[in-house]
Amino acid sequence: MNAPADADARRAIAPVICYPTEALPGPDMALLTAARQTLTKVGEVTVPPREARCFEVPAGHFFRITSIEAPQVGDLNLHNAADPTERFYSGKARALHGTHLSTGDRMWSSFPHLRPLATITHDTLDWYGIDDFGGSVHDVIGTRCDPYTHALLSDGAQYHHCCHSNLTRSLAAHLGLPRADAEPLVHDVLNVFMCTGFTRDTGQYFMKASPVRPGDYLEFFAEIDLLGNLSACPGGDCGSEHSSDFAPCAPLLVEVFRPAVDSLAGWSPPSVNTYDRSHGP
Ligand SMILES: [Zn+2]
Repeated sequence: MNAPADADARRAIAPVICYPTEALPGPDMALLTAARQTLTKVGEVTVPPREARCFEVPAGHFFRITSIEAPQVGDLNLHNAADPTERFYSGKARALHGTHLSTGDRMWSSFPHLRPLATITHDTLDWYGIDDFGGSVHDVIGTRCDPYTHALLSDGAQYHHCCHSNLTRSLAAHLGLPRADAEPLVHDVLNVFMCTGFTRDTGQYFMKASPVRPGDYLEFFAEIDLLGNLSACPGGDCGSEHSSDFAPCAPLLVEVFRPAVDSLAGWSPPSVNTYDRSHGP
């Protein structure tokens, strides 16, 4: 279409932030920063390459996802441990905090709950910022690699170790459900350590080799009792391709920590959202 005469003026309108976060109930980062100095490790799970594993984190505990052995991306699902239908809402986290999450950002839950499941308390990759391609780490833009998109793009090819399938198998095993019943509970992820963005010219989703190195970690505070599910993406560091067995792939370590008893004085788990759910008269 031909641009209208005032096209430049229309484009020159300054953007407005959709969801200013000043009014958002924020975490007490001073309290959490002090509490994380008192941690005692109480459990760990190693996620094998091209597989997923579940883990549970009691409210008021911390958990860390650490790169071990080689650079590796992880696809994280979070559920309310008492009700797995309350789960991480990646799109709302994106709308509130931006395309990539880091320290102080929160993992919000699905409707009608919409409350923080977890708060990010430490990120050893927070130095990365936004690179010259528009890329950054820990995105909430890329959903998760899945066998359906792979079949669409690869002439019907069947691949069974996409993060979606890994998360489905691991959740089914953990909850004792048939895979067909567990699959609808799997949801869009936090792409831990993944380096992604949108190309400036075509707006396409891109990935590039993650800057993560063994020893780097992302740490969370569990705001309620959590069921976590983490997949070690078949894309490895996601520097070349995913949805295949070609990329070098490494395990990921999940560790759970308990803070000192008196370190969380004044904190309590967030209640569910206060909207009355009537949707009007
Ligand atoms: Zn993946």
